[in-house]
Amino acid sequence: MEENEHEQENQDTRGGREISLDEFFELLTEYTDVPPPFYETESGEPYQTCSKCGCSLDGEVEYFVEKHFAGNRAGEVPDKPYFEYALCKSCILGLGIEISEESRTKIRLLIEEVVNTDLFEKTFSMFPGQEDVDTQTTTCFLTCEPIDVSREYTLYGHFKGDKMVLSSESPRVIGAKGLEMFQQVLSKSTKDEMNKIFDIIDFPPELMEELKFGGPLLV
Ligand SMILES: [Zn+2]
Repeated sequence: MEENEHEQENQDTRGGREISLDEFFELLTEYTDVPPPFYETESGEPYQTCSKCGCSLDGEVEYFVEKHFAGNRAGEVPDKPYFEYALCKSCILGLGIEISEESRTKIRLLIEEVVNTDLFEKTFSMFPGQEDVDTQTTTCFLTCEPIDVSREYTLYGHFKGDKMVLSSESPRVIGAKGLEMFQQVLSKSTKDEMNKIFDIIDFPPELMEELKFGGPLLV
């Protein structure tokens, strides 16, 4: 009997095929309902369409939501984001954001420096679940400090249809100090590349100048 079971096992193995890296990560990925911080502010509901091409964000469509809060000089908490958008994957790829090898390395080193600390390990889960959403949307992933909502911060997440992808990279929030840290490692040309994301938003140029950070970390 034991031998038969074993044979069966072997047959299963032979009948299988190697999975791709994408499929492997898919198996490890958790999903959750879109949390309210990522709802479209105007409708008060999850985004239904891409802010650039207008395609429907349902089914298997992957997209990215960013909300950027500017804070203000009076230290008041803004009641709505400075800007926000949902961008489908093909629109993101279509922006043609190019980041030099040097900048990629600098960003990677900055992130590695952060994630290899005890504080980071204590604050964030390596394989986040539903219970980690709150921490990941209120704690800066670069400083591990709670977000000061009266100052500048940016919140972003990766989505698929009506679900949010839960990973060590989604959702994330970066506070004012974390944004400064990024500013210091990003070159002017990298900032210009990241600012391509603003092609979808009509900003007066003077407001663009004030922005410290533009676009998701597509690295
Ligand atoms: Zn699109």
